[in-house]
Amino acid sequence: MTAHDGMYIGGAWRPAAGTDTIAVVNPVDEQVIAQVPAGTAEDIDAAVRAARAAFPGWAATPPAERAALIAALRDQLVARKDEIARTVTAELGSPEQFAQFVHAGVPIAVAGSYAELAASFTFEERIGNSRVLLEPVGVVGAITPWNYPLHQVVAKVAPALAAGCTVVLKPAEDTPLVAQLFAEAVHEVGFPAGVFNLVTGLGPVAGQALAEHEGVDLVSFTGSTAVGQQIGATAGAAIKPVALELGGKSANVILPSADLAKAVNVGVANVMNNSGQTCSAWTRMLVHADQYDDAVQLASAAAAKYGDRIGPVVNAKQQARVRGYIEKGIAEGAKIVAGGPESPREKGYFITPTVFAEVTPDMTIAQEEIFGPVLSIIKYADEDEALAIANGTVYGLAGAVWAGTEEEAVAFARRMDTGQVDINGGSFNPLAPFGGYKKSGVGRELGAHGFAEYLHTKSLQF
Ligand code: NAP
Ligand code: MG
Repeated sequence: MTAHDGMYIGGAWRPAAGTDTIAVVNPVDEQVIAQVPAGTAEDIDAAVRAARAAFPGWAATPPAERAALIAALRDQLVARKDEIARTVTAELGSPEQFAQFVHAGVPIAVAGSYAELAASFTFEERIGNSRVLLEPVGVVGAITPWNYPLHQVVAKVAPALAAGCTVVLKPAEDTPLVAQLFAEAVHEVGFPAGVFNLVTGLGPVAGQALAEHEGVDLVSFTGSTAVGQQIGATAGAAIKPVALELGGKSANVILPSADLAKAVNVGVANVMNNSGQTCSAWTRMLVHADQYDDAVQLASAAAAKYGDRIGPVVNAKQQARVRGYIEKGIAEGAKIVAGGPESPREKGYFITPTVFAEVTPDMTIAQEEIFGPVLSIIKYADEDEALAIANGTVYGLAGAVWAGTEEEAVAFARRMDTGQVDINGGSFNPLAPFGGYKKSGVGRELGAHGFAEYLHTKSLQF
């Protein structure tokens, strides 16, 4: 695609208020592939005004009409699937197949799910002598990260529009091109002007201006816990609803009765996919003492097979950060059994898939979100210890349990302080609520639960 040199505001591409630009870099070869405008508070203000002006009309549009436009948006994403995949490959460094199936494929499923939901949803319910109206919250400020750059946009914009809200999106500075492509798709569908608006820019400038804007009724943020805390505090002071999808440090608990080889192989793939840049990745593998050595051997062999095929991490800063964590793991006494801090290539922001054994639960690499292809294998003596380790971080986003029977795995999963658990390798469900316990966030995305985030309730008594 050709990058736009303006902002998408009020149904058209308009010149940015300022002249600063952001260079978009391909993380595979470090080449600048495009420039996009760096938005200012002025651009955000114009976008919020456009969204406010469009809100009453869009909120009053019959849900079936909104649903039809979202179905058309889904079709646009289908028609642009190859271009989306190519764009994510160019700006995130994602391998082609993963870009096709996940980065382009999942947003199609999510947009489709909201077209269906909006068509069938009942925006009224009866409770005794009351009629409860479910009404759109208003103007949504959406701030998204780069790791699943289109998915995270669609997971906010599709339910918001389906609910009757209007949106201003500030995508990550590293992946603005797929966001521009999304705006092109919205434009092509013919949504009313101002229903969706895009301002590219830097987090502390455009992002902060959006989070602080008085004309925004709800802020939905996905990204780091540090920025999430700041956005939550701002929303709290303004008494504004906020949805936060933050970091994770999920546990992959392999119980002694499990199929060890399968659990380890799927577990390694889960961490290495997307170069480890998945907030819900199972970055801690918990293995019983009797099976520990076998698990370490299986994991190191599985990781070694990936080489540089996983693609790079997103930028030089993330590469340095991930390497810093690998060095910290070594310094704290963990043992490298695959990979290490050296880069597999001279150019590009690559990290060798890395596996640590002899990791104890208190080590930095077992506590902090690394956001790179780095797995820690931790030993437990019994189930209670496994549970204490699994629950022993500030996060609670995801996890996995493997056991000989589903019932045994489910019994363990019930005791985990986390928002979602995959049982014996259960697959991703785009309709299931996604979100965190503890410092992994507030609120849920996807499916009917994600839809509810964009609705207010009003009760009429008779
Ligand atoms: P981040 O700074 O939290 O970025 C997320 C989004 O928030 C981006 O659009 C960012 O803009 C914006 N932002 C940054 N500062 C802001 C502010 N003060 N006010 C409003 N918006 C702001 O995350 P990052 O720097 O890209 O990555 C750092 C770490 O966050 C990663 O290593 C990883 O641990 C974690 N992370 C987690 C997730 C997740 O899905 N849970 C996703 C990405 C990153 P810019 O793009 O301009 O920074
Ligand atoms: Mg940042």
